[in-house]
Amino acid sequence: MTIAARKIRLIMELRRGGIADTHVLSAIERIPREDFVPPPFQHQSYDNRTLPIGNGQTLSQPQVVALMTQALQVTRRMKVLEIGTGSGYQAAILSRLCRRLYTIERYRELMRNAESRFSALRLHNITTHIGDGSRGWPAQAPFERIIVTAAADSIPGALVDQLAMDGLLILPISRSSRTQELVRLKRTEDGVFEESLGDVKFVPLIEGQLPEAAAEPQKAAQSGT
Ligand code: SAH
Repeated sequence: MTIAARKIRLIMELRRGGIADTHVLSAIERIPREDFVPPPFQHQSYDNRTLPIGNGQTLSQPQVVALMTQALQVTRRMKVLEIGTGSGYQAAILSRLCRRLYTIERYRELMRNAESRFSALRLHNITTHIGDGSRGWPAQAPFERIIVTAAADSIPGALVDQLAMDGLLILPISRSSRTQELVRLKRTEDGVFEESLGDVKFVPLIEGQLPEAAAEPQKAAQSGT
């Protein structure tokens, strides 16, 4: 089966799975998912499944990327913050729908790879930062939309603080050692309202600094020579 045919099959599967937003579907059609996964998994790019991206991290299933993107209700005028750049795939999809996408990743190596994909695809409205995303990005706040693509134990207060009035925050929350719930928060004049979007499975959101060795893989490699 050709890539084009696999892509059409995936889009049809997403539609059957409840993705109706044509902007979301066309962004998924236009961003080449095969460019975001390591070569051994490229033939599975248009299967509706989670794929490994290195550093023990994963690129979510297309169904989950589509569901989260649709639930985020992004428009062209918005500033959006993503926590957990990973491969950069979710960021690339969002960048096609918003004005500017800010994205934070704690692994330098994953971010370097994501950045080279953004420039190869000429996605010029993405701003990146390496660090702990659970603190948000105060200098760029407020954001109309915030999406977290790693599961937290509780809702990081800094992210709610950096949400614009009427803004939406989507994140997976760990409910037990095995279950996670996808939650959408809306910030309003009357307070913050929470709704559940179903069960999901993400890698954990890890707060705080990375150990030096992991943050500086090149230095570690050179020190042995
Ligand atoms: N959105 C990604 C998938 C991300 S997997 C994609 O489309 O490919 C979750 C990512 O969150 C991992 O890369 C992990 O390193 C990152 N992460 C975990 N905790 C983090 C934190 N506190 N700050 C920033 N990134 C974090």
